[in-house]
Amino acid sequence: MVRPQKFLLVIVLFTSSIAFAQQDSITQSDIESVKRDTTRRSVQIGDFMFNQVLFKHRLDPPIIFLNLHENEQTSIEALKKYAPDTAISYTYLEHGGERRISFTIGEEKYNFDPNRMFTKKGRKHTLRDGGNHSKKANYQVEKFATDFLSTISEASAIVAVHNNTDSNYSILSYKPDGSESKNTDSLYINPEMDPDDFIYTTNLAFYQAMVKHKISVILQDNKKFVDDGSLSVYCARRVCYVNIETEHGHLDKQLELLQLIHRVLREQIVIK
Ligand SMILES: [Zn+2]
Repeated sequence: MVRPQKFLLVIVLFTSSIAFAQQDSITQSDIESVKRDTTRRSVQIGDFMFNQVLFKHRLDPPIIFLNLHENEQTSIEALKKYAPDTAISYTYLEHGGERRISFTIGEEKYNFDPNRMFTKKGRKHTLRDGGNHSKKANYQVEKFATDFLSTISEASAIVAVHNNTDSNYSILSYKPDGSESKNTDSLYINPEMDPDDFIYTTNLAFYQAMVKHKISVILQDNKKFVDDGSLSVYCARRVCYVNIETEHGHLDKQLELLQLIHRVLREQIVIK
């Protein structure tokens, strides 16, 4: 159901209740710690080999943080900076720094968006958007999607980190007249926040916690969502999914949201 969004008149300037002091640059011991706990597994799509990077710590509680768009470097940097002191697990892909993954099968060239690979319909659309689609290519991407999901299958909660630009896409896209309105069950906008910095979730309890903390948030409509093959669609009725979306370069905001979300998830009953 699409409900009218609530415009809360926040008179007092929003000040985060969380104390985040870790704003300095990455220290040498941070780098050593990240190196020590980082592994790279080789993956293949068609004729193309690349890496999935895994930073594995104990999964207690079982939350996995991840990035699927390699060009969204602020969010990857935030994970690297946040992980050493907090013992989180995270993963991201390394395939040349682009958003989309390009591969070949023989003479045929293909490319796709890795956050559109988790359903058959999504794979078909994203391969077509990349200019070429075949059953073989769809199967190769499916194999990779299944493989990737197997590396995060222990998680009770998945936190994806993304970055966007100052252009069209923002939390305003989820308003009733916006391009993403079909995905919206409920919407809370804190007018004091940059519309490019927000949370997207599949979980009602988590949505309510974000509203309580005055963080702009969308609750996905887990029945009427548009099947674009994204991870949020795959997770819809399976597992608690949270997406932290911030503007490119908003590292401090991404770190602040990572810390808050991590704390809320640890406290939440959504972690079984
Ligand atoms: Zn992204």
